[in-house]
Amino acid sequence: MNALTSLSLAQARDALRKREFSATELVEAYLAAVEQARALNAFVLETPDRAHAMAEKSDARLARGEGGPLEGLPLAIKDLFCTEGVRTTASSRILENFVPAYESTVTANLWRDGAVLLGKTSNDEFAMGSSNETSCFGPVISPWRRRGSAQGLVPGGSSGGSAAAVAAGLCAGSTGTDTGGSIRQPASFCGIVGLKPTYGRCSRWGTVAFASSLDQAGPFARTVRDCAILLRSMAGNDPKDTTCVDLPVPDYEAAVGASVKGKRIGIPKEYRVPGMAAELETLWERGAQWLKDAGAETVEISLPMTKYALPAYYIVAPAEASSNLARYDGVRYGLRVAGSDITDMYERTRAAGFGKEVRRRVMIGTYVLSAGYYDAYYLHAQKVRTLIKRDFERCFADGIDAVLTPTTPSAAFAIGEKGSVDPVEMYLNDIFTVTVNMAGLPGISVPGGLDAQGLPLGLQLIGRPFDEEMLFALGAVIEKAAGRFTPQRWW
Ligand code: GLN
Repeated sequence: MNALTSLSLAQARDALRKREFSATELVEAYLAAVEQARALNAFVLETPDRAHAMAEKSDARLARGEGGPLEGLPLAIKDLFCTEGVRTTASSRILENFVPAYESTVTANLWRDGAVLLGKTSNDEFAMGSSNETSCFGPVISPWRRRGSAQGLVPGGSSGGSAAAVAAGLCAGSTGTDTGGSIRQPASFCGIVGLKPTYGRCSRWGTVAFASSLDQAGPFARTVRDCAILLRSMAGNDPKDTTCVDLPVPDYEAAVGASVKGKRIGIPKEYRVPGMAAELETLWERGAQWLKDAGAETVEISLPMTKYALPAYYIVAPAEASSNLARYDGVRYGLRVAGSDITDMYERTRAAGFGKEVRRRVMIGTYVLSAGYYDAYYLHAQKVRTLIKRDFERCFADGIDAVLTPTTPSAAFAIGEKGSVDPVEMYLNDIFTVTVNMAGLPGISVPGGLDAQGLPLGLQLIGRPFDEEMLFALGAVIEKAAGRFTPQRWW
């Protein structure tokens, strides 16, 4: 990282306002960093021309004293957000040449506030995965390495490109989407901060849909404050998404540094799973201690439905995915492979356009929704989902302000190490994160420390609906105690 790219988003914002450097200088520093980091394969599309044009406009607005809250700040956007006139693929062959005629609400909000687009980042195909290995553009390589090893590690997924880009200093912040953990898990693996907002906080309009009742957009950044700044711009009501909630967007940044005295932090005993790394257990205890040192109180709580969350998620998510992905039929978007008749064309297009994991999910989803199985699987999973939500509601009603857990059961693994034989091995990565999506709650991952091999480990805080401010306040306490973590540059 150079002098400009090593600044936090908040520092860059303040310096731009004071005209210590220009938006153009900042964007050039980031574009150079992106170019030098192609070995990470984090970007599926770089947009330098657009970045320069946007930065120039930012400089003009800053000169007139009219800069927005994100004026001139270079961001990377997960390739699941539709960007008008800029190819958007969801890292799938089936959308390889799709150029949207519209802008997603979340990205439109970012540009409205003055942010600059550096490019689109890779993700697991249609956001299905935990390692960014299912992208049709090939795996993203984490900027982190185990101490003394040159083995390539996964950045986590599905928003792996966005997380790797932030960790490697290739952007001031980035966007992700989180259906079962895809912001928090890669944030944990990459040693950065990632927040999944409450369901309904950010509009889903113009974001490629995976599982509509679980999907939620959120920010990645190197600090808690930076995430708070980004969320304020991303969030807000949107008449184009009926699940988006009409609540005022608070000044999240003001919550960073707020007192956490007297806050009650739940420690769920069911998250002590067999096979969890001992170091994670230690980190979890240390996290609880940091919060206590800051005046919070920790309470052991029980979330008995936790063990059903992952199996229920892997019914609900594929069911919704199979329905959402039915639109990719070779007629309306992207790829078309000719066939002898229309059914043959559908089949050939979908077989050629979807990767293995996506095909698996479409088949599972179609199966659990089919007549005769709907009640046994889908309806049952929806009932379990209600019970999972009630677990949390009971704790919050008992005065718990937030729940503290590890974000993932382990640190980052090597490319090719997991899931090639048994997909469940990969699904188990989401064991601590899916409950939050099933219950529609907000969750943040904040780096807590490094393991013995020098890899980052994250701590997750789960909050009450629409109380992201609590997560920023508590997250800032952990960040202050743990410090920040930057990978050694090897690329
Ligand atoms: N890893 C989970 C899955 O594969 C979650 C993905 C996500 O949050 N988009 O479904």
